[in-house]
This record gives sequence, structure tokens and C-alpha cells, in this order.
Amino acid sequence: MSIVTRFAPSPTGYLHLAPAFRALTAWRRAREAGGKFLLRLEDIDTARCRPEFAAAILEDLAWLGIDWDGEVRVQSQHLAEYRATLDAVGARGLLYPCFCTRADIAQSASAPHTPDGALLYPGTCRHLSLDERQARIVAGERYALRLDVTRAVAARLTFDEEGEGAIPCRPEQFGDVVLARKDAPGSYHLCVTHDDALQGVTLVTRGEDLKSATHLHRLLQSLMGWPVPTYAHHALLVDTTGRRLAKRDRAMTLRELRGQGCSAADVWAMIGAFRRSG
Ligand SMILES: [Zn+2]
Repeated sequence: MSIVTRFAPSPTGYLHLAPAFRALTAWRRAREAGGKFLLRLEDIDTARCRPEFAAAILEDLAWLGIDWDGEVRVQSQHLAEYRATLDAVGARGLLYPCFCTRADIAQSASAPHTPDGALLYPGTCRHLSLDERQARIVAGERYALRLDVTRAVAARLTFDEEGEGAIPCRPEQFGDVVLARKDAPGSYHLCVTHDDALQGVTLVTRGEDLKSATHLHRLLQSLMGWPVPTYAHHALLVDTTGRRLAKRDRAMTLRELRGQGCSAADVWAMIGAFRRSG
């Protein structure tokens, strides 16, 4: 089977070295294997994503010499597909409306966190009666849709991490995750998993900060009967003090570097220098 990788940035700013490294990793793996490299813009969060950043990402990638196969998939143009996925999960009784605000959750949680640093949701609204849910929805209260993870886990699942083999999934460590909010029909977890399946991605390369989310993504794949890619989570770029390179490092946007006279080859060399060995 031919390899298909992807780079799926959110257009919330100009590309900096860390996403350039992610793009490069996925692109190289595809090109070395004679496979396909896809580009997807994860722009569901309309409050943070901007069209000019989307355009800049394409331009910066081209400047780096990174080419992609086929059309760029733009998530905001496919909301109905995420809604349909959500409906399919909901039809199996695995979703429930949650009316809690962040403050509610902070107050009720006994401080445990999920692997991605969010407060672990204590499941408050899971226990509301159907009547109460209906009444609050009719009254116009805002709500999110959460996955009842305990009910959703029907079998022991694993995912394949390159170099490590099968890793047992523990999606329950995320609690009942939000799969949709009123202003967005799909969460990151839902949309990314949907699109990897739809686009036939066979190898997901991404930063190790997303490795824990794979436990959840594997559960969604299982619920929807989607194919399961192999995963290769890579070390994040760090500076000389070991600090993770992040968007706040403004000087590190490709545009800035280009403005300072750097060539694409210089950027590639910088990425190599910031790459944590091992
Ligand atoms: Zn709630």
C-alpha cells in the first residue's frame, strides 16, 4: 500500500519553525516512499483562524520547496460532513449535552487534568434527566456535546506507533471530551480523525505533544469504522535552553527569517539545529 501523509496546520498565524518542521517531516516521508503528501487547513475555529494566514501558509510552504498532492482540504468548507459524523455518534446514544461553563468545571473538578492539560470534566451533565436536558435546550441555554467515553469504549483498542508497536489505548484519561460546541459542529479531535480517514492518510506524523490524543482518535475510528493509520510522533523543536519553540517566538516566523535574508536552505539548516536528538 502506498504511503499517504499530511500536514494539517491551523491558520491562526504565520508559519514558524515548529510547524515548518512538522510539514517537512510529513513531506519527506511521503516523497522518500514515492507516496502522497496532503495539505489540510484546520480552520474550524473561526474566531482564531484567518484567510490571510491560510494564504500565507501555502506561500511559505512553496517557498520552502514543499509541494503537495491534490487540492488543499479546507475544513470550514465541509461542516456538513462533521455534522453527519456527530449525528452518527449521537444516534448511538453516545453524546450528551453539557451546559457547564469553564468556571463550573473548574469549581466542580477536584483538579485532575487530562493529558493535554485541560481540566478533567467530572461528568456533571451525564446524569441529567432527559426532561431536564430538553427543558434547558428549549430555554436556549448554550451547550456542548460530550462523548460518553465509558459507554463508547466497547473493546480494548491499540494504535500502532512507529518504532514502538501496538500501544494500548486509554481514551478514558480524557474524560467525556467535547465533540462539538454550538458555534462549531466538530472539535479538533472529531475533524482531524474524520479527515485522516476520508483522505486515506496511512501515516500520521505529528509532534509528540499530540501522542496522547491518539488514544481518543483511535476510539473515534473504532466508533465510526474508519481505517486506522500508523502514527509516528516526533520530538518537538527546542531552543538551546531546551525550551519548546512556540508561536510566541515571533522572530522565528518564516516571513521574518525571509525578511532577514534567510534562504529556504538556511531555514532547513536551522530546523536541523533545533531538532532534539533522539
Ligand atoms: Zn456539564
